[in-house]
Amino acid sequence: MNRKDFFIQGIRLTILSVIGLLSTFLIVENKVVSPDNCSVSTLCKNCGKYSQCDLPQANKEKKNE
Ligand code: SF4
Repeated sequence: MNRKDFFIQGIRLTILSVIGLLSTFLIVENKVVSPDNCSVSTLCKNCGKYSQCDLPQANKEKKNE
């Protein structure tokens, strides 16, 4: 491995690390929405569909009542 390859590999690893850290941050902070979760709102009780909604988020809220 020559000097140029060493720097290129370092840049690649740095970019990969940044992507990994950013992904971890977004998952931990719940910024990534899974398909089972609602994208309408995070507050079901303020939603007009709440009484008829069968999404996991609404069901969890109904159980807590
Ligand atoms: S009631 Fe249903 S549609 Fe409304 S915010 Fe909750 S999960 Fe989304």
